[in-house]
Amino acid sequence: MKASRDIVKVGLAEEFRICPQCGYELGFHSSFLRAVEGYRIILICPECGARYDVGWRM
Ligand SMILES: [Zn+2]
Repeated sequence: MKASRDIVKVGLAEEFRICPQCGYELGFHSSFLRAVEGYRIILICPECGARYDVGWRM
């Protein structure tokens, strides 16, 4: 499995806008991934496709 397809868990600080993998600075797309507790909100870097889980659930 490519590393860029793994979902990286991140903790939110003041702002989460810059992709840690590629340095893209203009924010993220979002997607919703079904999970046992509902849906996980996943942020996706539009530049490199890296996926991040910031702990949001719905
Ligand atoms: Zn990126």
